[in-house]
Amino acid sequence: MPETDSPQRPLPLPDPLSEPFWAAARRHELHMQKCESCGRLAYPPEIACRACGGGRLAFTPVSGRATLHSWTVLHDPPSPGFRDRLPVILAVVELEEQERLLMSSNLIGIAPEDLRIGLPLEALFEDVTDDCTLVQFGPTER
Ligand SMILES: [Zn+2]
Repeated sequence: MPETDSPQRPLPLPDPLSEPFWAAARRHELHMQKCESCGRLAYPPEIACRACGGGRLAFTPVSGRATLHSWTVLHDPPSPGFRDRLPVILAVVELEEQERLLMSSNLIGIAPEDLRIGLPLEALFEDVTDDCTLVQFGPTER
C-alpha cells in the first residue's frame, strides 16, 4: 500500500550485524541473538557476548511477549512522517525471555493515559516497504 504523497518515516538501516533481526521481522518473527556458550540473549546485536565473551552468537526466535519498562510520549512529530501518528509513544520494553533484556520500540494501539510499568505487551509487525518491516509493541490481546 504505497502512499506516495505521504512523507516517509525514517526507516532502520540494517547492517551486517542486525540484518538477521530485520530478515526475521520481514517474516513477522522476533529474533534475538543468543550466545551459544552461555545462553544469554542480547539486544541490540553485538560482536561478542557481554556475559562470557563468547563469539558465537546466533539469532533465535523469541515469543514477542514483553512488559513495559519505561516510555516517553512525544506530542510533536519527531519527523514529518509521524504527523498523522501523534502522539508517538517511545518505549523501552523488557522481553519475557530474560530479565533486563530491553528493546527500544514504538507503542501502538494504546492511549498514553493507559500506560503503566509492567503492562503486558506483544510484538506487532508493520510492513512499511517490501524491504522493511518495523517491530512495534501493543497491549496483549485478552
Ligand atoms: Zn555468553
